[in-house]
Amino acid sequence: MLVGTSTSMYSLKLKSFGRIARCFSTTSSSPLRICVVGSGPAGFYTAEKLLKAHESVEVDIIDRLPTPFGLVRSGVAPDHPETKVVINQFSRVAQNERCSFFGNVSLGSSVTLLELRNMYNAVVLAYGAESDRSLGIPKEELAGIYAAREFVWWYNGHPDCRNLAPDLKSSDTAVILGQGNVALDVARILLRPIEELARTDIASHALAALEESSIRKVYLVGRRGPVQAACTAKELREILGIKDLGVYIKPADLVTTPADEIEMKNSRIRRRVHELLSKAVTPGCTPVASQRELHFVFFRKPDMFLESDDKSGHVGGIRLEKTALKDVGDDELVKQVAVGTGVYEDISCGLALKSIGYKSVAVDGLPFDTNKGIVPNDRGRVLADASHGHLQHDIGLYVCGWLKRGPTGIIGTNLHCAEETISCISEDLNRGALASASTKPGREGLRQVLDSRNTRVVPFDGWGKIDCEERRRGSLKNKPREKLATWEELLEVACR
Ligand code: NAP
Repeated sequence: MLVGTSTSMYSLKLKSFGRIARCFSTTSSSPLRICVVGSGPAGFYTAEKLLKAHESVEVDIIDRLPTPFGLVRSGVAPDHPETKVVINQFSRVAQNERCSFFGNVSLGSSVTLLELRNMYNAVVLAYGAESDRSLGIPKEELAGIYAAREFVWWYNGHPDCRNLAPDLKSSDTAVILGQGNVALDVARILLRPIEELARTDIASHALAALEESSIRKVYLVGRRGPVQAACTAKELREILGIKDLGVYIKPADLVTTPADEIEMKNSRIRRRVHELLSKAVTPGCTPVASQRELHFVFFRKPDMFLESDDKSGHVGGIRLEKTALKDVGDDELVKQVAVGTGVYEDISCGLALKSIGYKSVAVDGLPFDTNKGIVPNDRGRVLADASHGHLQHDIGLYVCGWLKRGPTGIIGTNLHCAEETISCISEDLNRGALASASTKPGREGLRQVLDSRNTRVVPFDGWGKIDCEERRRGSLKNKPREKLATWEELLEVACR
């Protein structure tokens, strides 16, 4: 998942920069002013590549949080520090003299999309996916049921989830719905020995709650089979390797069909995942009372949540419907979907985490495809009207990252995504479709608007103060950092 460290990745990057640099051949006396909304991987790769491609471009990055780096800070699990090394690369981008970071600036409330478009030659929206898909099943609103995103934000010290306070004490069982890498992340955090988590940058409120947790059984529920589990081999190997963990899988679930065999032949990842799960089964193994347990449950789809008998309004379990796989692919491709069989079973639990995918949120003035949860776009150019089969580009407005493609892919995927979007910007620039640079106030205009609204902007050196303070507090506890996890504290330290 580390980006830009291997030789092949580095040479790939050089090649791409060459390609983009050639596209940006226009010379202009006034700088091209571009605003990037969102400072996660998609935003920073976009900024980095824009700065390298054109020597007179100015890039301003705004983010609604006082802290930069989006998913790298709030999404990547605390026990994956190697994945966060990319922050060093992003920091160098933010420190470029032609780049400015505006933290604590929210699109929609601090500044509108229309205002940004009036102030900049181009606006690139890269604000990710800050909401969640819902299951749409009865009793989804019960207490004790969370989106995995909320739980991840909670243990990663995101200020919006500081007060989530999931109850980890009243029950010994958690159910996680979905079997992607996010599901594996949250399962690992629930099951990893606390002394291992204590050495990470996990938020202190989460560490304290996990220290007292009575959860010792985690069910990872997939609506399809082990061949279709959405996780990748590296992440699966990691969870299976947790110290003193009992892993349970029904051997019958591992039996493959001819369609499964074709899927595995077509995908090395699917084959590796199936192999790892098969090796993890210990025949005749019975749970040991002192041991933590991870149960892989396949071929079960959520039907309804069940209310606890003891605690009114709180989840007490989930009803699952047994499924069978049906091939809906064509001659070329096997695609198996889960269909219900009308057979049900219940699992009791005190905590339920829905890990079925993130969802982007629309803002005023932006076309949005609510079904797909993305902004309709053509290789990154926002489509003003995609009806009647013709593509009409909204010139000057672009998207990148999860808002463009949907919530899939690793951090490095955003590098190629940014390249594609930037090549569209350069094409539009070179054919004279973007407004003249001299007519756009850019950074100065943005400052004036934010000043007039008394917005407490956090510049990149404000983040530097937060970073220093977090590292200082972390060093006292033998942790890489102790995250500041409330809005008040973050703003107070940033504005010292
Ligand atoms: P994901 O990989 O798309 O997994 C979603 C899971 O939810 C799948 O198992 C899916 O099953 C299931 N699901 C979806 N709708 C459902 C429904 N209505 N009922 C029951 N199950 C449902 O998404 P994710 O785990 O949120 O991860 C997002 C992206 O971030 C992925 O590309 C992931 O690889 C990446 N990521 C990577 C890392 C890492 O590299 N360490 C860590 C975290 C995330 P079906 O397959 O049947 O649809």
